[in-house]
Amino acid sequence: MPQPMSSFSMPRRGLIRGTGAGLIAASGSAAAQQGDPAPVRAIGRPMPKLEREAPLSPEERVGFAVVGLGKFALNQILPSFAFCRQAKLVSLVSGDAAKAREVARQYGVPESGIHDYANYDRIADDPAIQVVYVILPNALHAEYTQRAFRAGKHVLCEKPMAVSSAEAREMIAAGRAAGRKLMVAYRAQYETFNRKAIEMIREGELGKLRLITSDHGRPAKPEEPADQWRLQRALAGGGSLFDVGIYAVNAMRYLSGEEPEEVMAMTQSDPDDPRFREVEDRTTWQFRMPSGLLCNGSTSYSYFETKRLSVLGTDAALRMDPATDYDLRRMWVSREGEREAELLLPMNNQFAAGLDHMAECVRENRDPRTPGEEGLRDMLAMEAIYEAARTGRTVRVGTP
Ligand code: NDP
Repeated sequence: MPQPMSSFSMPRRGLIRGTGAGLIAASGSAAAQQGDPAPVRAIGRPMPKLEREAPLSPEERVGFAVVGLGKFALNQILPSFAFCRQAKLVSLVSGDAAKAREVARQYGVPESGIHDYANYDRIADDPAIQVVYVILPNALHAEYTQRAFRAGKHVLCEKPMAVSSAEAREMIAAGRAAGRKLMVAYRAQYETFNRKAIEMIREGELGKLRLITSDHGRPAKPEEPADQWRLQRALAGGGSLFDVGIYAVNAMRYLSGEEPEEVMAMTQSDPDDPRFREVEDRTTWQFRMPSGLLCNGSTSYSYFETKRLSVLGTDAALRMDPATDYDLRRMWVSREGEREAELLLPMNNQFAAGLDHMAECVRENRDPRTPGEEGLRDMLAMEAIYEAARTGRTVRVGTP
């Protein structure tokens, strides 16, 4: 079955808004005029040719338990189940019983599907749960992933998959031992613009890649509950690099299709900024890829919200800004002798696409596109960045 993001094909160059739509409408109505006239009363008509795949029946869909009802789960993930055709929400795990009951009412989750952290292991007794989606603070990902595997469930885990490569390895090993799937929820890899950029690069439209630059950051706000644990090392594992810089690290890898060999880096935190007592603020880094491609990244918890990337090739350049937003994506391509053109693509629901991908992998017993090993690669790259910044030396990235 085709993935949502590959179910369209776009012209290689920028589109002009509105072209073609009028022609399609005109020829469609011309065809309709050729048939028998419809009676002037309400009548049924046979199933039309659908423009998108129909959803599976609720019984056929894969049941998900969401663990941790925080900002991301409530604002992005739970509403996105409505856009899924293969995944369904069947269970909630939360430490706040009143919130869990309220959210269960909103999404039609039965009382029996509500669990807390103490009785979490009882998910083993609920056959409706096939996948556990871990959306907890980073330092809790490994524990709740491994407990889910022990309960016989597959796991979809938020980024960063863990707070160290050692934990990431344990998670992968636990999934293998249990014979269950582990996917890291790298939403940008299920999103149409990023998929298109990968496709253009793989088809050689940019020529040989020379430089990828990406900046991902946002101001950390200690007054917001979701940012409080992010500023605590024991729960976050790292600073802006683990939280948002990871999007740039991951993009450098999926855009190039290469793994960084060598890393140089610097970190900086203002000593009098109370946000950075435990975790670092800004990091810049360089990767050298095996082909000679260089990458230049930055991340911060103090610069204004930024999610951009650019790819410079020998024949063309591509830039995306924002590249990894929840709701908005924009992409431009420039070529020698041509003005920079914006590519207009349909925007998909990247969260639903990721959920459906995991559901499809479970239904068809396939490996996810972003398995645990993908998360481990990012952990190794980020550990090398920290090591390079700490020592001031060029560091080789560890092997998985
Ligand atoms: P929140 O703080 O908003 O939510 C975390 C939830 O985890 C809490 O609401 C709580 O749920 C539960 N929790 C359990 N123990 C703790 C604890 N000791 N401290 C705090 N919360 C705890 O964080 P986010 O939703 O922003 O982030 C959660 C995860 O999702 C992180 O790993 C983050 O990196 C990832 N994320 C991914 C994004 C993406 O685009 N892919 C975007 C945002 C976040 P309850 O009250 O129900 O028990």
